[in-house]
Amino acid sequence: MITRVGIIGLGNVGEATLKLLKKSSSLIAHRTSLKIDVKGICDSQSSKRRLSSKFSTFFTTNPYDLINDPKIDVIVELIGGIDPARKIIIESLKKQKNVVTANKALLAQSGNEIFSLAESKQRRVGFEASVCGAIPLIKSISEGLVGCEVRNLYGIVNGTTNYILYQMGKAHIDFASALADAKLHGFAERKASFDIEGIDSLHKLCILCYLCFGVWPKPDKIYTEGISKISLLDIIYTRQLNYRIKLLALAKKEKNTLDIRVHPALVPVSHPFSQTTLAYNAVYLDTYPAGNLLFYGQGAGGTATSSSVVSDIVNVSFNTRGFSRKQENFSFKNIKATSSRYYIRLMAKDRPGVLAMISRVLASLNISIASVSQKERNKEQFVPIVMITHEAKEESVKKALSKIDSSSLIKNPTQLIRIEDL
Ligand code: NAP
Repeated sequence: MITRVGIIGLGNVGEATLKLLKKSSSLIAHRTSLKIDVKGICDSQSSKRRLSSKFSTFFTTNPYDLINDPKIDVIVELIGGIDPARKIIIESLKKQKNVVTANKALLAQSGNEIFSLAESKQRRVGFEASVCGAIPLIKSISEGLVGCEVRNLYGIVNGTTNYILYQMGKAHIDFASALADAKLHGFAERKASFDIEGIDSLHKLCILCYLCFGVWPKPDKIYTEGISKISLLDIIYTRQLNYRIKLLALAKKEKNTLDIRVHPALVPVSHPFSQTTLAYNAVYLDTYPAGNLLFYGQGAGGTATSSSVVSDIVNVSFNTRGFSRKQENFSFKNIKATSSRYYIRLMAKDRPGVLAMISRVLASLNISIASVSQKERNKEQFVPIVMITHEAKEESVKKALSKIDSSSLIKNPTQLIRIEDL
């Protein structure tokens, strides 16, 4: 069997995909009897034309030259962003082509529309590369766990933020220096706000919710908090308490309600997430009956991600029934209604009565303290006080901190990080 492919977008992932196809096409043909023929490539930069002679294929700057070519069976969209990527995918499906994409931002926004159209056209959309780069997570969930219930999922799904948090702890540097280091070593883009503010993790979480629970949550309704407010002090103090700070994308199923959020969290040092360092990704699923499962590997990088794109090209070409999850009805839990244990770091005047004031406010809102320690002594100066609470309601904790922060004895804002006892 032969499949004819058009690749649109020859950036990090697109160029690596071309290279991998050249390198592995005979291996794939040997293993699967599928011959992959790259019929055409497209990029808005005409400088990429050089790739067409290298890979003996047609080059264009107009995606529609490939979408409208009746000889092309599979369109691989690797340009990223919402528009024109959405139109490229929609038009390709309408032309009865299978599609492969790595575009998490687009799927988080328009996944419902894209998968519904693919189903009605009996076409396939491969999207393995959209979550956790090289880790074959989507195939594992959609096929390997097809008879399982996923109860909870937790993911370190953004390599940039994981690298920054790891580097802060390893090199004892602040957030800005760790970000600069990530950029220097190619782990962060120049404009890194999507990663740092948790938006990239949010997009991946939306896709995982579709796979695991059959819902496409609206991204703007999901509580999302990034890592830019994490200070070196927090990295140091949480380490002393035997935790690591990780940016988590998480979803917990409670009957017909989903508690979905993205935020930094303390995870126990004994959990494999704590050993997920550098720019690695890890996803931890609590399932029935398969129990707890951990997926770990390279979550980004053109070369690693090309493995998932090539695997999708093979899968959609065999056009076995594509992944389509029946839509389920869930309501979504508001962050205010969630409960957790909390790490609280205050900067408080080193003066008698301050701790009593803080304890009074917390007690008035039913928040009990599991441990407290004052980290320095410096009379009349602001010094760090670190507290761990017992399980408490988020709404109460937020109310308490707003009261505490209004005191002149506190240099606000107080740091609050949720604890996930995985
Ligand atoms: P990239 O390096 O920015 O490459 C995108 C390429 O597409 C660029 O050459 C760009 O040209 C071109 N392009 C943009 N709009 C176009 C259009 N309308 N027609 C033709 N070409 C167009 O991006 P990437 O890092 O390869 O990422 C591609 C996709 O993979 C994204 O959805 C991303 O989220 C996803 N992904 C990336 C990684 C990773 O590690 N990089 C990992 C997993 C998933 P210009 O530069 O002129 O715009």
